[in-house]
Amino acid sequence: MDIYIRRQASYNAGVDKLKSKQSATFALQSLNQLLWPAVCINCRESICETDKSLCKDCWGELISCTGADYCQRCGRDVSRYALVDGACPDCQGKEIHFDQIARSGVYAESLREMILAFKKGRTELDSTLGFLANAALDGSGFYNEIEFFVPVPLHWFRRLTRGHNQALVLAKKLKHPTAKISTDLVRIRYTKTQPGGVADVAARARNVAGAFAVRRGHQFTGRSVCIVDDIKTTGATLNECAKTLKEAGAAKVFALVLAVAGQNPA
Ligand SMILES: [Zn+2]
Ligand SMILES: [Zn+2]
Repeated sequence: MDIYIRRQASYNAGVDKLKSKQSATFALQSLNQLLWPAVCINCRESICETDKSLCKDCWGELISCTGADYCQRCGRDVSRYALVDGACPDCQGKEIHFDQIARSGVYAESLREMILAFKKGRTELDSTLGFLANAALDGSGFYNEIEFFVPVPLHWFRRLTRGHNQALVLAKKLKHPTAKISTDLVRIRYTKTQPGGVADVAARARNVAGAFAVRRGHQFTGRSVCIVDDIKTTGATLNECAKTLKEAGAAKVFALVLAVAGQNPA
């Protein structure tokens, strides 16, 4: 009986200790919330949960943008039952120079807003976008093959005016035990901002034709590389990068993007 009472007393003391620890943590969280109110990293609405970075609405939108199945050849939304020889109805017969693509979602709603803000310099979004990119990479099926991550390069003049290359910032957030980032793919021609939308496939391809090259001394020969970018619109830029890397001797070229444009969320 004595032992039981002692055990019970020590259990109660433990619970009390835990309760006081919890209330101290809660008080600290409330103080933090008062001094530095938590806001949604996307829309800046205030949020109560200190461990989440997005508000309920932005999370909801993000889930609807990132949930669908997609074609691993071109990245468009497609039911897995609509694939013929690994190609969806949209990309069948099209010349695609990269071997496979992984994407986080479609270019819409809160995902679109975060990508646009990230491009314009809100680099603090890198953790949330990095998390999404890593999730896409994990489910890609080519994760173990990657030897180099190659961010789509900006022309030096655009990098100077923008201050950062969002594809490189994103590549630095990718988690991989062995793959390294290579910046040996460069943009040798200043190109206008890609014209029009998804309808201007030919114009966009012409705009980036011959715009890329690899540096002397690159290590792409015989290697598997993964191009990294924020958005795929028609795929002209990714295609041209992949073509350049293959011509330089890369054995396999994959692509990883945050979002594919030109379609509605599923
Ligand atoms: Zn929000
Ligand atoms: Zn496709």
